[in-house]
Formats: sequence, C-alpha cells, structure tokens
Amino acid sequence: MAQQVLLYDTTLRDGMQGEGMSLSADEKVRVAHALDQLGVHLIEAGFPSSNPKEEALFELLAGESFEHAEIAAFGMTRRKDSVAADDPALRVLADCFAPVCTLVGKTWSLHLEKVTRVDPEENLRMIADSVGFLRAQGKRVIYDAEHFFDAYADDADYALRCLRAAAEAGAENLTLCDTNGATLPGGVAEATVAVVAELGSAVDIGIHTHDDAGCGVATSLVAVQRGARLVQGTVNGYGERCGNANLLTILANLQLKLGYDCVEPRRLERLTETAHLIDELCNVSPNPNQPYVGANAFAHKGGMHVAGVNRDTRTFEHIEPEQVGADRRLLISELSGKGTVEARAAKTGVDLGPDGAARVADRVKELEHQGYHLEAADGSFDLLIRKQAGDYEPLFTLESWRVIVEKRKDGAVETEATIKIWVDDERYIRTAEGNGPVNALDNALRDAICERHPHLRDIELVNYKVRILDESKGTGAATRVLLDAGDGSETWGTIGVSENIIEASWEALVDSLEAGMLPGRAEHARRPGSEVAPS
Ligand SMILES: [Zn+2]
Repeated sequence: MAQQVLLYDTTLRDGMQGEGMSLSADEKVRVAHALDQLGVHLIEAGFPSSNPKEEALFELLAGESFEHAEIAAFGMTRRKDSVAADDPALRVLADCFAPVCTLVGKTWSLHLEKVTRVDPEENLRMIADSVGFLRAQGKRVIYDAEHFFDAYADDADYALRCLRAAAEAGAENLTLCDTNGATLPGGVAEATVAVVAELGSAVDIGIHTHDDAGCGVATSLVAVQRGARLVQGTVNGYGERCGNANLLTILANLQLKLGYDCVEPRRLERLTETAHLIDELCNVSPNPNQPYVGANAFAHKGGMHVAGVNRDTRTFEHIEPEQVGADRRLLISELSGKGTVEARAAKTGVDLGPDGAARVADRVKELEHQGYHLEAADGSFDLLIRKQAGDYEPLFTLESWRVIVEKRKDGAVETEATIKIWVDDERYIRTAEGNGPVNALDNALRDAICERHPHLRDIELVNYKVRILDESKGTGAATRVLLDAGDGSETWGTIGVSENIIEASWEALVDSLEAGMLPGRAEHARRPGSEVAPS
C-alpha cells in the first residue's frame, strides 16, 4: 500500500507574509474550505492573538465544520527566563479551540547569539517547557525547528538536541524548516536521513521549505523520499521574499510521480480550480506558467507538437491534464497547420472537413500577417471556424456607432456612445454613458440586444490589453486589442486590430459577446454577473 504523507498548509499564516497579501477573516474561511475540499489534512490559521482580526478568524473557524481538515494554531516557544504556564501567548494557544498547536523555536546558535540572545541550554528548556505545557493542556503539538538546515550544517549535535527536547516533551511531529530557503536538495536529504535515523522511530518528521534558491518543491520532495511524513507549504507558493514551497506542485508530484498517498484522486482533480480560486481571493493574477495548474501547463503551439499530441498525448505531456483538473489547449498560430484547426473545430462541435480546415488555416495566416494574434483569442478563432463552416449568425447588423468624449473645464471627462443596429427586422437606437469609450459602447450595445439575448447579461469583460503593433509609426501605428470575457464558468479571449483604437476595441467587444453566445457557452448555468467593462 502507498505510504501516506500529510499535507500541512500555511497559506493563511506564512503565505500572508508575501508582499501585498491580505485577506479578511471571511475570505480566510473560504480558503480553508477550498483546502479542505482539496483534501489538505492540516490548515494553519495563524496566531490566535488578541488582534481583533485574528480573534474574529478563530471565532469563525470554531463554528465551521470541515470534511477532514484540522485547524492548527501557530505560536512561539515561551520567553526566556520564565515558565510556560505564565506566558500569555502560550495561554492563548492553550485556550484556543484548535486541536493542534504548531510551535516554532530556535535551533541555530547564530540566532541565539545575534537575535534572541538566549543561552543554548535555556533555549532547550524553552522548547521542552513550552511543548510540555501545551501537551498538558490536551493539545497535539507540531514542533517547527526554525533554520534547522543552517543549524545542522553549523552544529549538528546541538540541532539534534533541540529536536530531542521537543520530542521528549511530547511533540507528535518535528518539522525541519529551511527558513531562509538556502539549502539545496542534497543538504536537505543528508540532514533528513540523519534526523530520521536518530528520532524517526519515536516521532514523525515534517518538512517546511522556502524557494529562495528555486528549490522549495525539490527540497520538500527529497525530504519526503528520505522519510518525512508531513509537508508544509502554501498555495501557489505565496510567501515572503521568493515564496514558500508550493504545496500544490508538491501534492501533484508526490501523488502522480512518486506514488505517495496524499488525497483521493477525485480530490486531486480540484487542483487547478483551487489554485485559481485562491489566487482570485488573494487578488493575485494566476501565473500562466505555474506547474500543473497554469493556463499554459498543457498548451501546445508548434505544428509538430500539436500533431504529436493529437496522435498520442504522451508525446508532449507529462501527465493527463484531467488528473489535476486542467484543460489541454491547442494554440492557434501560423506555425501550426490544418491539424490544429481540425482539432479545435472538433472540440467545439464543428465538422469542417479537410477543405474547410485548409481554408481556415489560410485565413489565419492572412490575419496574422495583419497583426492578429489568434492564439490568445480562442473566442475569435471559434467564430472564424463557424464563419468558414457557414454556420454563423451575427447577433445584429450594424448601421453605425458614434462616441463622444468631452473634457470639461473642471477636469471631468464624460463619454457617451450612440449605436444604431438592426436585430432581425427591428432597428434599435441606444445611447449610453461609460467611464471610457469602450465601456460606453459596451453599455449601449448590451442595452440594445440583451432583451433578445438575456445570456449576454452574464458575460463579464475581465481583462483588456492594448498593444501598439508598429511602434515606429507613432500614433499612426495599428493597435491590437485583446479582450478576455467570462460567464462565471468559462473564459475566452477575443481580438481586434485597427489603426483606430476604438474600432479595434469594438471588433474585440463584438467578438466577445458573439463568442459567448456560441452553442456550448450560452447554455451554461446562469449567474448574476456584474457588468465590468474596460474604459
Ligand atoms: Zn516559513
């Protein structure tokens, strides 16, 4: 039977040290539930201090029920020259509802000398006294040995004495921390082997690393291979400096590459969704190149790659994307020929036939020559396929549109758009304001056609990017606009190119609404969506 490894998430504590990271108590509860759904075993919620925000969080968490995750509260060993029972911070930990307490303590003489100025023997007493106190209060204790690998390299004997003090006082797990993220896999392997040999029969060993040397995931994996049975990390590798080890990458590697038993396979399929949901809550834009879960993780561009993947996915993919809930993407570009076009058409339910595919491929080449960039615009590409297949109904026919931007003496800028369109045999004239020309056009257009097509109300424009194509021409250069739109369950990109930025935007805007109405998208579950349009 595969060996079990416990996943310990510290997004809500160590991850929040990252620059710009901030979550409300309610958002932290949502993160905790997402982690629980993924199958994470232990969720470190933070310091249960008297700070009102933390207090509110622990109060909320105490009232939540989780499928199988347990909440851990985090704290430090007692202050020097006192007793644990009199330490107010340890008292708060003891009184908190969390069944598990994680205590961090010093291991490295450099820190004892330079930072805390604590005598090494007193440090051992601080560890034993603090762990023993929480055990006596009925808590399970995980001991985080801070700077363990630097300490071990400096004075292995003392580093092991610190661990032994925690183990003998009743800690159920000793987690070896690479707090500075400086250690390479070989060093972590060697020290972990020594600790497991020395203490592994009495107590479980854990690993907590950072990514300063770009090895956070690698050092975590190597520690597990050498006997660690608990891995700490953060979602998407959030954390101070270069971040913590990415727990999601670690999970996928442990389970899919090394055969460890971490979570049920059906839970692993939530990996991509969990990564993106938590990015969204933390207001971080997802890294498209993130292993396993990034938008590019299973994207194929070159013609040979696409042909290979079409024949056998193992040719260019290291796992089946479905195992982690990701989607395979075939990028459209002039590099790839008919094969990509046929694959994309089949995916969206259109039978183009070889002649149709060749026509689309030729059209893609023409468009790319004009500055279109269809690999980022799958929505526009889907429309192109439909147009070539003769299976395309425009949402409306344009008579004209006009945009007025007025700058006033007091500094205010007002924008107003008027559109005249035909839907079936009916003429619609609509005027709308907006915070910019594209927003005003979007408002006027939706006002005109949402009556006939209520699904359009669910479509949100989520991203708007502008690029000048031939910069040498200055303001006379062509402009490329990329729009991302979504309906709550799917997102798609569209594109417009013109010498006029508003015309380019209009083209992308119309594509984004039409692509959202294609069969397969329009039937998605309705969701009350706010209409955010770019300016
Ligand atoms: Zn850390």
